[in-house]
Amino acid sequence: MIKLHYLRGYAFSVRQVHTQVAIVGGGTAGLNVAAQLIADGHAIPQQIRIFEPMKMHTYQPGWTMVGGGLYDINKTLKPMEKVLPKNVIVSDSPVIRINPEQNQIQTFDGEKYTYDQLVVATGVRTDFDQIKGARKYLEDPNSPVASIYHFKYASKMNRLVDEFEGGKLVFSEPQMPIKCGGAPQKIVYLSHDRLRKRGIKSDIHFYKTSALIFGVPKYAEVLADVCQRKQINCHFKQKLVEVQDHIAIFENQDTKELQSVQFDLLHLVPPQVPGKYIAASGLGDAAGYCNVHPATLQHVKYKNIWSLGDCSSLPTSKTAAAVMAQTPILVKNLIRTWKKGLEPLPEYEGYTSCPIFTSQSTLLLAEFKYNSELDETFPIFQSNESRLMFYLKKDFFPFAYWYFMVKGLWGGRDGFRFFKGA
Ligand SMILES: Cc1cc2nc3c(=O)[nH]c(=O)nc-3n(C[C@H](O)[C@H](O)[C@H](O)COP(=O)(O)OP(=O)(O)OC[C@H]3O[C@@H](n4cnc5c(N)ncnc54)[C@H](O)[C@@H]3O)c2cc1C
Repeated sequence: MIKLHYLRGYAFSVRQVHTQVAIVGGGTAGLNVAAQLIADGHAIPQQIRIFEPMKMHTYQPGWTMVGGGLYDINKTLKPMEKVLPKNVIVSDSPVIRINPEQNQIQTFDGEKYTYDQLVVATGVRTDFDQIKGARKYLEDPNSPVASIYHFKYASKMNRLVDEFEGGKLVFSEPQMPIKCGGAPQKIVYLSHDRLRKRGIKSDIHFYKTSALIFGVPKYAEVLADVCQRKQINCHFKQKLVEVQDHIAIFENQDTKELQSVQFDLLHLVPPQVPGKYIAASGLGDAAGYCNVHPATLQHVKYKNIWSLGDCSSLPTSKTAAAVMAQTPILVKNLIRTWKKGLEPLPEYEGYTSCPIFTSQSTLLLAEFKYNSELDETFPIFQSNESRLMFYLKKDFFPFAYWYFMVKGLWGGRDGFRFFKGA
């Protein structure tokens, strides 16, 4: 049945090159925008085209849990056709250029499409190749190098920790921004707890490119205590630049001096970059992110272009939780300007959330907005590690994502949105 709907979508795409709404990227952000536009009755699916080359939709927040031995990788992947709204038009060739003056999109296969309103939601690319040698060791099943930033290497991390018999574990964190800035340290605490439970002696070292354990002082204090309690050695301003056989090479960010560190297990996190087509299309800020107003999500130059999620210039931590807060505001503003001729409302204050596993049964829920200002939903549970928040993250969030977000019925911390409209 679903397949039939999908075929109908593809049939449309052959005849029709113009749609009212074009969404580039069918990840968390693109999917959520499409679903809410339809659920709220603002657009019919046949007037929405989604550009998405991947066959599988990924629930990336689950990959930390996979690497941490808490979750099955198969629960983090679903075929695109099962999650994209029925009857939207799908183009599976990646977008390589946008011509904003002519409202035109060009795809890799040479096709051109036009739109009235465009949403740019292509996330960020994990650039493993910026770390010399990383790809080779990640791909080698016999090498003790893994990463939760890819579903394949997240499963490898789970296996490596399961099989670890003692020695030195090294974890790295690259320069920000990355998606889920807390994930590189969540995997440190999860791995520590698994080894502790098995009685394995481990010497854990966490190398961060930045100078702080976390950017929000209240949570930084709790996390510094966690590291001390677990005897995790933190090294700051150290960037991983190369991997060799059982050796990680770090560059000191002040002196540029290189340091070789021996390891028995290395978990690395790749630097992350926005798609090059954004800057090449004249839509990027200085760093290449889609340049939108931080409160309205409207492009600073083109009034019919919008962006959210990881590829946007929004100066907040890049998370799915942030996407949940951004989507209803983007949809509301897109409809106000397009259908009602009104100005967009400056409603987004930068809300984001980072649920930080501190063990295999506890979690610190960090919630904040622009300028690292606290913006907490459950303050009494957020001053320290909590078991309740652990289960919220491990079991409830994935459930809300797969059963409600994909239908446009999940508003993040605003809860279910059964009767909402923009
Ligand atoms: C290990 C890990 C742990 C995380 N933990 C959490 C967490 O605990 N909580 C949380 O809230 N968030 C977490 N996140 C972050 C969250 O997954 C992202 O912020 C979220 O997926 C961003 O959504 P997005 O749509 O912007 O990007 P994505 O979900 O990455 O989607 C982008 C889509 O665009 C497509 N695309 C790319 N280029 C093109 C192109 N040229 N043309 C067409 N399509 C294209 C891609 O194929 C992809 O499907 C985590 C992420 C990772 C990797």
